[in-house]
Amino acid sequence: MEIKITQAKTNRTRPQDSELGFGKVFTDHMFVMDYSEDNGWHNPRIEPYADFSVAPSAMVFHYGQAIFEGLKAYKTSDNKIHLYRARDNFERMNRSAKGMCIPQIDVDFVMDALKQLIKIEEKWIPQTLGTALYIRPTIIATDPFLGVRASFTYKFFIILSSVGAYYAEGLNPVKIWVSKDHVRAVRGGVGEFKTAGNYAASLIASEKAKKEGYAQVLWLDAIERKYIEEVGAMNIFFLINDELVTPNLTGSILPGITRYSVITLAKKWGMAMSERRISIDEVFKAHEDGKLVEVFGSGTAAVISPVGEIRYGDKVISIGDGTPGETAMKFYDALTDIQYGKAEDTENWIEVVD
Ligand SMILES: *Cc1c(COP(=O)(O)O)cnc(C)c1O
Repeated sequence: MEIKITQAKTNRTRPQDSELGFGKVFTDHMFVMDYSEDNGWHNPRIEPYADFSVAPSAMVFHYGQAIFEGLKAYKTSDNKIHLYRARDNFERMNRSAKGMCIPQIDVDFVMDALKQLIKIEEKWIPQTLGTALYIRPTIIATDPFLGVRASFTYKFFIILSSVGAYYAEGLNPVKIWVSKDHVRAVRGGVGEFKTAGNYAASLIASEKAKKEGYAQVLWLDAIERKYIEEVGAMNIFFLINDELVTPNLTGSILPGITRYSVITLAKKWGMAMSERRISIDEVFKAHEDGKLVEVFGSGTAAVISPVGEIRYGDKVISIGDGTPGETAMKFYDALTDIQYGKAEDTENWIEVVD
């Protein structure tokens, strides 16, 4: 399939790296293609970033068939463009698609489309350490129809956003709040898919956490309300003595690509690494016994996010001394060194766009 390219007429410039923030600055072009039952995915095109026209009756607005991905491209100091594990993102998108009755995409084709788009948008990739080009592939259901069934037509698009360092003042530990009343997802549901409704469902707990002065919500399992699942849009890791623990994937947890990367590096470094059930009580008990060394989140946006405080009901524990833990920093440095081409890509995680 030939990708038709329409150049934007605008000639905007990228804001200063320090002004970027996250998810606010969009580039000049986007990739779009359509799906119909008769033609499959068709009409792939790179065109100026602009508003879409979709019917108010489009099924996505009513029944929520929408999936997305989040990944990044990095500019190295020798001006190469690095895509980090992009294929894994599109493969995960296909798993989300299957779960939401959305047609599959051809991973090789969208990888090629993404590379073409990035090449056109090269000037939008910032280069300072911590900055990147954030990539948001999305699929929405577009049938103009009221009635609950899977749509017959879809739109796939990729938009790009120049993003600044996630934490402007460096990797400051965040405070997280355990949700007792709300759950994010339940086994057998759609928690393991990156589908829009999961985020809408999480807002009420986030608002409560923010009101109490906490940055993110730590979710417990929906059945026993005991076992830790994940935090905000990140997976979570606990260093208990010298064992690194992360919840095993149960179907309600989003299988993060950063999570896989951390697990892979931990094993490579010879750390004791377990994917297992871990209860909130075990975490508080480990803290009481002086064994809870570090807690950190993992996700594309922040890469690694140290946790400095956890609140569960009336109980609050502090972890570390207010600065990022040694292990969190070690993972942050190792991952970002690979992403920015400062270390050898021993795991084959990088694809160069050229
Ligand atoms: C995207 C996401 C993550 C992290 O996944 P990465 O692939 O590492 O970015 C974790 N949890 C949720 C709920 C997410 O949406």
